Amino acid sequence: MPHFVDTSPAGECIFCRLAAREIPSAIVHEDDLTIAFMDIGQVNPGHVLVATRRHADNLLELTDAEAAAVMQTARHIALAAQKAFPSAGLTLLQANGAEGGQTVRHFHMHVVPRHANDGIELTWPRKEPGAAVLADYALKLKSALALPPAPSKD
Ligand SMILES: [Zn+2]
Repeated sequence: MPHFVDTSPAGECIFCRLAAREIPSAIVHEDDLTIAFMDIGQVNPGHVLVATRRHADNLLELTDAEAAAVMQTARHIALAAQKAFPSAGLTLLQANGAEGGQTVRHFHMHVVPRHANDGIELTWPRKEPGAAVLADYALKLKSALALPPAPSKD
C-alpha cells in the first residue's frame, strides 16, 4: 500500500486543490462529476486516479450518480490505457478508511495497467466460514438493503 497520507481537512485536501488547479497535475479527463489524472507514484506506466469532482471522503458519501460516473470514467481510462500502454491485465483499486488502505480522504479509484511480476501485491486471506454462516450474512445484508438509503449530503 502507498505510504503517503494526506491529513488536510475536507475542501483543502490535495485532490480538491488539484481539481481547482491550485496545484499542478497531469489531468487526462474531466467531466461534471469526475476528474482523472496521472498518479504521481506511477506504479506502472498509465496508472491513473479517477476522483469525484466534489469532495466526498469515501464511497459511502457518493451520490448514485457520482458512483456511476466514476465507474464509467474508470472504464474509459482503462480502454485508453490499453491503447497507450498495452498490458496483459488491469486492476481497479478503491480504498475506504485507513483500515481499508485509503491514504487521501477524497474518493478516488486507481486504474492500474498490470504486468506479470510487477510487484503489486494484495493478500487475500480466505476464511471460508461455510454455507450456514454465508446464509446468515446474506440475511443481514438483505435486511440492511431493505432499509431506506442514507440521506445524500448534497
Ligand atoms: Zn477533497
